[in-house]
Amino acid sequence: MDTFCSVIKFENLQELKRLCHWGPIIALGVIAVCSTMAMIDSVLWYWPLHTTGGSVNFIMLINWTVMILYNYFNAMFIGPGFVPLGWKPENSQDREDVPLWRMYLQYCKVCQAYKAPRSHHCIKCNRCVMKMDHHCPWISNSCGYQNHASFTLFLLLAPLGCIHSAFIFVMTMYTQLHNRLSFGWNTVKIDMSASRRDPLPIIPFGLAAFAATLFALGLALGTTIAVGMLFFIQMKIILRNNISLNFITCLLILQIFVKSNKDQWMFYIKKKAVMIKTV
Ligand SMILES: [Zn+2]
Ligand SMILES: [Zn+2]
Repeated sequence: MDTFCSVIKFENLQELKRLCHWGPIIALGVIAVCSTMAMIDSVLWYWPLHTTGGSVNFIMLINWTVMILYNYFNAMFIGPGFVPLGWKPENSQDREDVPLWRMYLQYCKVCQAYKAPRSHHCIKCNRCVMKMDHHCPWISNSCGYQNHASFTLFLLLAPLGCIHSAFIFVMTMYTQLHNRLSFGWNTVKIDMSASRRDPLPIIPFGLAAFAATLFALGLALGTTIAVGMLFFIQMKIILRNNISLNFITCLLILQIFVKSNKDQWMFYIKKKAVMIKTV
């Protein structure tokens, strides 16, 4: 009973609240639709129990789903690592009158703590986050020191899983359409060679199934492009040992600067255009 009570703590319930946010709901919805449709279509296109290729295809599909969900939930529930409330450096090799860290470290009034190097205060989490990269609405948490690796792995695995799913969707629709066009639209599945092997399971692939597969294909391709681009940007930032927050801040400053000096910018652009024309 004690173990049970120690598992269900107030903080754990608070953590579960993260799931009730538009980001996780949409992300988990897309994962659920794509993987469920891909498994159903795999059974139709490449029956997993009779051939090695079919088995490998199905195991790979389950593998993508498990790894994507594992990294997604890790990024969400492990969290970024917060600076402890009321934190100040323990070992300060400083002068007695003016501690060195007091001169260099910023103080967060909300957390009542000094900000560790590379930490930032997240308004959404209302805590100082260690090595904060950005606050991600899709995991409803900040991305920082502890969950950056899981988050980046999720960004890599999600497009790979989606590419595999998209391939299955295209192949299933192609083979099903080929069957319909060859043997008539109303036939369920007529495969003459199948009679010589063990009987294959017959699952009707109607218009609704086509529409669902097409919808899942759209979701998979959209996710591949969007998340793939995020992975590319994230890798560029990691390799430069930078953080997304700096990139976003630069964009915001540029936006404010352009807005506030709109006339000057327009004058400068027009002047450049005239110069180019005259040259
Ligand atoms: Zn703070
Ligand atoms: Zn945050």
